[in-house]
Amino acid sequence: ALPIVAIVGRPNVGKSTLVNRIAQTSEAIVHEMRGVTRDRSYHKADWNGVEFMLIDTGGIEMGGDDAFQGSIRSQAFEGAREADVIIFLVDGKTGINTDDEEVARILQKAKKSVFLAVNKMDNPARMDEVWEFYALGLGDPWPVSAQHGNGTGDLLDEVVAEL
Ligand code: GDP
Ligand code: MG
Repeated sequence: ALPIVAIVGRPNVGKSTLVNRIAQTSEAIVHEMRGVTRDRSYHKADWNGVEFMLIDTGGIEMGGDDAFQGSIRSQAFEGAREADVIIFLVDGKTGINTDDEEVARILQKAKKSVFLAVNKMDNPARMDEVWEFYALGLGDPWPVSAQHGNGTGDLLDEVVAEL
């Protein structure tokens, strides 16, 4: 089986945009893998000859605060359980919110490699623009623009080195 990279993060941070940039096809693979849950989509990807399965989590976004919170929490747990490496995507335009903090706490306890990627850094990103994300306690933030591609290659180099 291919190694699994899960993209975790609250709605609207750009998870699906990042998947579309990285995966060879935006079509989700409807897989016969056991335990595949319907709120995540699986996409085959390849970076520098390393193949992996990319999971876009949180495909279903429920209404209501409790359901919303619950879905974020379970997405983070599922990602931590099932993935070899986790990309935790946050929004560099809106900054940190309490959902990000909750996901960060879950991922800190996961015995998996976690890359904290700060999306929507559309202009050539500088580390001084992402300093606030060090507060999530997940190490160095990686500035990226899923839309334009800035920083995604550097991030993927590091991700596949862990697979
Ligand atoms: P998801 O809910 O996490 O899957 O987020 P989406 O991929 O659906 O993106 C949510 C919104 O953010 C969309 O309007 C995207 O066009 C926008 N978005 C995604 N990536 C970027 C980015 O790198 N820069 C900017 N400016 N907007 C982005
Ligand atoms: Mg999405």
